[in-house]
Amino acid sequence: MLKLQAQTTLPTDFGNFKLLAFSEKEEDWMPHLALIAEGTELDTVTNIRIHSECITGEIFHSRKCECGQQLDAAMKYISENGGIILYLRQEGRNIGIINKIKAYQLQEKGFDTVEANLKLGLPADDRDFSPAVEILDILGVDKINLLTNNPEKMSSIENSHIHLNRRIPLNIKANETNYSYLATKKSYFGHLFETSLT
Ligand SMILES: [Zn+2]
Repeated sequence: MLKLQAQTTLPTDFGNFKLLAFSEKEEDWMPHLALIAEGTELDTVTNIRIHSECITGEIFHSRKCECGQQLDAAMKYISENGGIILYLRQEGRNIGIINKIKAYQLQEKGFDTVEANLKLGLPADDRDFSPAVEILDILGVDKINLLTNNPEKMSSIENSHIHLNRRIPLNIKANETNYSYLATKKSYFGHLFETSLT
């Protein structure tokens, strides 16, 4: 069971947030995080982004995916409109950074993001969005708008006791490096966006 372990205010380039850490044990070095925009009301319909960690995209600005741009766009939207970013520690669609690097190496040989995972004996997508529901429960949020293109995230909310009011699309322009990755996300995982090149 997740517990709120610590919280503080966090001024950012996008505005002021509250940063909260959730884990089962206080010694957990990789707790899930929640960023709550200043002034957010939790007892009405709340804008939520469920975002899974991607160190290559968010920290190193990798052009192989769009996670960094999605996180920035979500922080901007939520700072302006109120809401919460739930940052889940499931690197590489939950295969971990070592396997992700191995998968990237296979992709250099021509495998796509799904084929590479399967060739490593790993699931195409092993993410679990239930910690997001657990954190919303702790925060007392039960009606949300979800910023996402991912139908899996929508169904994980729809299958919970949280009411999904509507989806807010997160449109990111593809670049030449991530174009085929985004095309696979759309064709294999059914993500809801246009894959137009900038
Ligand atoms: Zn990424």
